[in-house]
Amino acid sequence: MDARKFALCFALAALFSCGANYRTQNFFVSAKTPALAKKVGDQAEGYRKQLALYWLGRELPAWEDVCPIEVIAGPNHEANGVTNFVFMQGTVGRWQMRVEGTEERVLDSVLPHEITHTVLASHFAPMGKPVPRWADEGACTTVEHIAERSKFDRLLIRYLHSGQGFSFQDLYHIKDYPADPLPLYAQGYSVVSFLVAQGGPRKFVDYLQTGMSTNDWAQATEKFYQYNGLGHLKKNWLAWVSDGGGDVSNYAAVPQASEVIVAAAASTPLSELANPTAVTVASTSVLERNWVS
Ligand SMILES: [Zn+2]
Repeated sequence: MDARKFALCFALAALFSCGANYRTQNFFVSAKTPALAKKVGDQAEGYRKQLALYWLGRELPAWEDVCPIEVIAGPNHEANGVTNFVFMQGTVGRWQMRVEGTEERVLDSVLPHEITHTVLASHFAPMGKPVPRWADEGACTTVEHIAERSKFDRLLIRYLHSGQGFSFQDLYHIKDYPADPLPLYAQGYSVVSFLVAQGGPRKFVDYLQTGMSTNDWAQATEKFYQYNGLGHLKKNWLAWVSDGGGDVSNYAAVPQASEVIVAAAASTPLSELANPTAVTVASTSVLERNWVS
């Protein structure tokens, strides 16, 4: 077969194996059906806008590189997602995203989780380094459906009882995914929720920016949340968890105005857009992001 024929066959094979495609300004979706590809593409653009406003207070400019999204959806599929990207001279690109699960879970949990990775990566691209794992996965998990988040709340209690919790010194400096990543996700999600409830998502991103710049997390924690170092933060966070979570005002380092707490603790930033449906998922989700340097 000559090279041209081979290229044509390869292109046709790729086309048919992908099912349906749908292009938006920033995404190129491949899914089993045109309807699902369109739904994921439109939702991805919606999340990209809404999550950037939520975390950064501003929309992102259009990406130079379109982000391909491979959708693998079907009944009984375990919720799972991966996003790869490359930092290049102050920008980020070469996106690759795969979202998997039931259609409902892809739309209400995996997609917003993975899109949050892209929002944070876009914001921190000028620094050329990734957000610490606990904070990145924790932040992404906070925008998942309540059913997924509740699962992590339950897992966290089990991990803390069985000695699988991380010291904050370790947590803040983990660079690679542990062999079992779920304790990192569960603790990261809980600590991010605890901090976001004290001043909101944008303050949390500013906190990350400062900590990532200075690598002095004790000082950043004191500056933004008034805890006297990571030990103080851990003590109050643990007390909050063991008291059952909920209102954080009694666990803040200094008394906070109730409107700050209430505004920050709004259950999900996506309730209007995602229109979440109650879905029972028995499997444990593992949502991993690979950072490609
Ligand atoms: Zn993730």
